[in-house]
Amino acid sequence: MSQAQAASAAVTEVPLLDLKGQYAPLRAEIEAVMKEVCDSQTFILGPKVEALEGEIAAYSNAAHGVGTSSGTDALLLALMALGIGPGDEVITTPFTFFATAGVVSRLGARPVFCDIDPDTCNLDPAAVAAFIREHCSSESGQLVNKDSGGRVRVLMPVHLYGQCADMTPLMTLAREHGLRVVEDAAQAIGAEDSNGQRAGSIGDVGCFSFFPSKNLGAFGDAGMCVTNDAELAEKMKILRVHGGERRYYHSAVGGNFRLDALQAAIISVKLKHLEQWSAERQQHAKYYDERFAELGPSVKTPGVRDGCRHIYNQYTIRVPDRDSLKQYLTDKHIGCAIYYPVPLHLQECFKELGYREGDLPESEAAANAVLSLPVYPELSTAQQDYVVDSISDYLRQ
Ligand SMILES: *Cc1c(COP(=O)(O)O)cnc(C)c1O
Repeated sequence: MSQAQAASAAVTEVPLLDLKGQYAPLRAEIEAVMKEVCDSQTFILGPKVEALEGEIAAYSNAAHGVGTSSGTDALLLALMALGIGPGDEVITTPFTFFATAGVVSRLGARPVFCDIDPDTCNLDPAAVAAFIREHCSSESGQLVNKDSGGRVRVLMPVHLYGQCADMTPLMTLAREHGLRVVEDAAQAIGAEDSNGQRAGSIGDVGCFSFFPSKNLGAFGDAGMCVTNDAELAEKMKILRVHGGERRYYHSAVGGNFRLDALQAAIISVKLKHLEQWSAERQQHAKYYDERFAELGPSVKTPGVRDGCRHIYNQYTIRVPDRDSLKQYLTDKHIGCAIYYPVPLHLQECFKELGYREGDLPESEAAANAVLSLPVYPELSTAQQDYVVDSISDYLRQ
């Protein structure tokens, strides 16, 4: 038995994520800032939130940050600030978390789904171009969906699993057709596109989630919009407080999308460690890549576009017979998950959009084959070996 095999033999379980392991070394610092907020008795927005807005904007290479109550609310707020409503359409990917398209429908607008690149699982610019070419016309500068009569106004790519969608051609399409761009960067804080641009800073608005299981997680729900457009930032700040620029005087109908001071203070502490955590996730991904290469072609490792900085919110493999591998790993106490089992165009709540099985074959194939493995920063090599050895055993049985 090699040393590595001996070490992995001693491991008997690997969780999908280990937040306690991340918290332990930060406990004193986090408790101190929480105490500060408690002593201040200032809980909503305020200086801690403003500080975090500046830090996240700087980290993302964007000019402005607008803290929100969740990643979902960040997406909703971005679309509200762009004036999206009934009769409008938003082009996005069906292979994402529900919120991406949910916020579109909540505003009375219509999500339009285009297929993904099977290598990265991100929105395929060629599919977007084909949709525009085959289904849209331009009427006095406004892109119109000829099938529905809707105004196509926004392109909303998702940086799935921590890798940027292929933004250069997507931005070109958006410019050519007068579309605004909202980046769903909920899984991708610190990721960079192939030209070095940071996730969230490329389109009109970038939206982050600080849900506890994201790479930068709060102790509850939290999110943020970043933008380089001062006017949009101002609009979002007003809509975040019920559209009241002055308290009790409402220029627009907004909502309560505010971020808490406690969450902001905690995220600020954690942000200082994010670069290190991302580097560790990248090392784990590299190690998986190397070890899975030994197993031959049955395990397809994540595709990374040239020059991109992937921050591995998820390390997602594709395997045939995925459901039985998932069961096998679960029996071995290895945490793994399917992101996502049902593409959004086939969700019951979107039946009225009229999509059918077979309409977006790459998304449907991915939904049947993907499996995300533990890749959190604190993961040990022995734990990774246990994961890979277990998959290897499964394939050989
Ligand atoms: C997590 C996530 C969201 C929603 O964020 P919440 O903070 O949970 O509301 C939106 N889009 C994607 C792609 C996500 O992964």
